[in-house]
Amino acid sequence: MPRPSFICPACQHTSHHPADVEYGYCGRCQRYTRAEAAAARALAGLAAARAHAASAIEWPNDSSDRAPQ
Ligand SMILES: [Zn+2]
Repeated sequence: MPRPSFICPACQHTSHHPADVEYGYCGRCQRYTRAEAAAARALAGLAAARAHAASAIEWPNDSSDRAPQ
């Protein structure tokens, strides 16, 4: 059974350390690439949510206080 390995997406450094594999940690870059990827996805989702919220409140001002017919 082959040991799991982690290859750094930035420098292609390969690690077989279980913790490095689990966290996507590169000892050469000293970066947690998995956490960075998750953070990038979270920021992208947050930006998308903000854009959606911004578009949702751009209603014409004169329609909000008009009584329903
Ligand atoms: Zn690296």
